[in-house]
Amino acid sequence: MKLKKTRKERKCYSCKSLINKGDLYGQKSIALGEKVNGESETFDGMNVVINYMRIPVSMCQCCLENK
Ligand SMILES: [Zn+2]
Repeated sequence: MKLKKTRKERKCYSCKSLINKGDLYGQKSIALGEKVNGESETFDGMNVVINYMRIPVSMCQCCLENK
């Protein structure tokens, strides 16, 4: 995991602590939602089947190193 220096304040996805400007953070992609694949949901009037979506999240150095 490559750590980057943030140029703006972020919130750690894992521990919810603040990552201050200039602190190191890492980016990880996680699966969004705990929905069962194949479950359907109404979205914008359409019935769609939910699949896992991966989104990037910010995590503090501490959480990344404890993995
Ligand atoms: Zn953290």
